[in-house]
Amino acid sequence: MEKHLDTICVQGGWKPENGEPRVLPIYQSTTFKYSSTEEMADLFDLKKEGYFYTRLANPTVDAVAAKINELEGGVGCVLTSSGQAANLFAILNICNAGDHIISVNSIYGGTFNLFGVSLEKLGISCTFISQSSTDEEIQAAFTPKTKCLFGETISNPGGEVFDIERFANIAHSNGVPLIVDNTFATPINCRPFEWGADIVTHSTTKYMDGHATQVGGAVIDSGNFDWEAHADKFPGLCTPDESYHGLVYTKYFGRKAYISKVVSQLMRDLGSSPAPMNSFLLNIGLETLHLRMPRHCENALKVAKWLKENEKVAWVRYCGLEGDPYYELAQKYLPDGSCGVLAFGLKGSRQDAIKFMDSLQFVAIVTHVADARTCILHPASHTHRQLSDQQLKEAGIAPDLMRLSLGIENAEDIIADLRQALDRI
Ligand SMILES: *Cc1c(COP(=O)(O)O)cnc(C)c1O
Repeated sequence: MEKHLDTICVQGGWKPENGEPRVLPIYQSTTFKYSSTEEMADLFDLKKEGYFYTRLANPTVDAVAAKINELEGGVGCVLTSSGQAANLFAILNICNAGDHIISVNSIYGGTFNLFGVSLEKLGISCTFISQSSTDEEIQAAFTPKTKCLFGETISNPGGEVFDIERFANIAHSNGVPLIVDNTFATPINCRPFEWGADIVTHSTTKYMDGHATQVGGAVIDSGNFDWEAHADKFPGLCTPDESYHGLVYTKYFGRKAYISKVVSQLMRDLGSSPAPMNSFLLNIGLETLHLRMPRHCENALKVAKWLKENEKVAWVRYCGLEGDPYYELAQKYLPDGSCGVLAFGLKGSRQDAIKFMDSLQFVAIVTHVADARTCILHPASHTHRQLSDQQLKEAGIAPDLMRLSLGIENAEDIIADLRQALDRI
């Protein structure tokens, strides 16, 4: 029987047998014992499944990966040590030096740098396109070396909603997968596979954890992309891997080819595995994700409406707010709520904005979003400070943009704090 997402949040993943702990245990061990050389050899040859070294697999980490996989509706999930590592692995798993990717430009600053700077150094080039590009403009960005299309369900911090279905169609008509970073929506509010995405990534650091206790990431495979049908583009999946005795991932793992390669090649060679303790903390967060998301969204909508009416506020952007440029897309992809993050700018000088931020009492200035506590950030001077003004604008971020991440406190108290700080300017 297929369970509701709420039940998966609470009970997914860890399934204790008789006499085992009810609560997911922390297997804080790098190694696992076997009694014969042969048993160990079979594990290394991928002939049998089992634990032998925590960089490759760990029971605590696997249980949480299984829960996230079930929430997204995939065939497999790999947890990583950070969201950055998740997006890096999602790309490296299908791209070699000389390859090319296409990404929407309104994405998280860290991902923008990863694609524009570090992947470039590895010989993988990226063409950034605008969310509002026409189909023809997007089509023009494809080259014979293009291996995927990338976007975020709700962009951080621009709040733009990704037209997943449209981009999936364009990707598929070019024989490449669509990768969607679903961090801000979470599977509670959007499940990108249902709209045609092939691979989903997460920074679990955000809502999934929800309490700002661990940095982590996830890559989830829908199992739907037909790699064999485009075998010339994806030799890493469709031709023998000499570092695994000539195994061909698509032949050996079928629909789990992509996600199996993430573990057996990228985790093996590059690391970036999460600590069991962190997965344990993430799991506790996931147990209340379905309760927290609606409150984050409710608070964001209340505060967005209040800000919009305030005479000192120049503009407010929240895709859940009627009249927002992304309201229609949000209604399509995020009918039950989007996320708790909104953006706004104040009338007046840069100095006023700083005075406002510094006058806040419990709404804290932190480099973080999407946890239980309300916080605020000025991307141009924090997360996105590496970007030029021009790049900021291209990424959909106004230099005066303040990113407000609504927590799950009482909305009236949050509004009272914002009001008293606005009154000071
Ligand atoms: C934070 C974030 C990341 C990076 O994740 P880390 O866990 O900080 O490495 C990637 N994508 C989005 C949308 C994010 O918000």
